[in-house]
Amino acid sequence: MRPIEKGKNSKTFNQYQDAKGDLIVRLGNYCSYCERELPASLAVEHVQPKSLHPDLLLKWDNFLLACINCNSTKDDTDVQLENYLWPDKDNTFLAFVYSEGGRITVNDKLADRQKKCAQNILDLVGLQKRPRSDDLKKSDMRWMQRKEAWDKAVRSLKRLKEDDRKGFREQIAETTDSAGHWSIWMTVFKDDRDMLRRFIKTFRGTSEECFDKSGAPIPRKSGIV
Ligand SMILES: [Zn+2]
Repeated sequence: MRPIEKGKNSKTFNQYQDAKGDLIVRLGNYCSYCERELPASLAVEHVQPKSLHPDLLLKWDNFLLACINCNSTKDDTDVQLENYLWPDKDNTFLAFVYSEGGRITVNDKLADRQKKCAQNILDLVGLQKRPRSDDLKKSDMRWMQRKEAWDKAVRSLKRLKEDDRKGFREQIAETTDSAGHWSIWMTVFKDDRDMLRRFIKTFRGTSEECFDKSGAPIPRKSGIV
């Protein structure tokens, strides 16, 4: 899950939908949870549901961007913020391991409390649903799109190793920007510091404080991870 930098916003919104433009300008067209790039179908997501917390209906601090699948799985769950990791508060890249087929698991190296919070956010938005999950809806293609992104990243890395030119590096970074799934690209290219730096810079809103100069993830100040 990409760690993001939403920043402050002192605007007064008359309706929450009005925040979508600012969110997209700052964070790109990506679902804050599953990382898919969805220019047309992202919604302003209320971290604490608006039905249970009407006082937070128009609060910038309570907004992220989410796709229909993450949004509907999360539904109106009344979340205790401190029991979850959040992409705008934690280094959520450090918290999860992406592997072949686009699978997501909690990083085994975390402390017990961190692991619990990491698992809670995966469960909250249903990111571990796979074809054999009982509750996987036909319309939920997140697992398949992660798999496709993984395969595409592997092919790109192979091609880059065969023909390593600066222009090709630039091109990969630019095309991944419109393909989404930043965490998968970061994982597949984990040994290529130059490409890691490019992905961190190219994807709008990625939190740079979550990475050292080599592109390796580091804990986020004031986060649980
Ligand atoms: Zn999503």
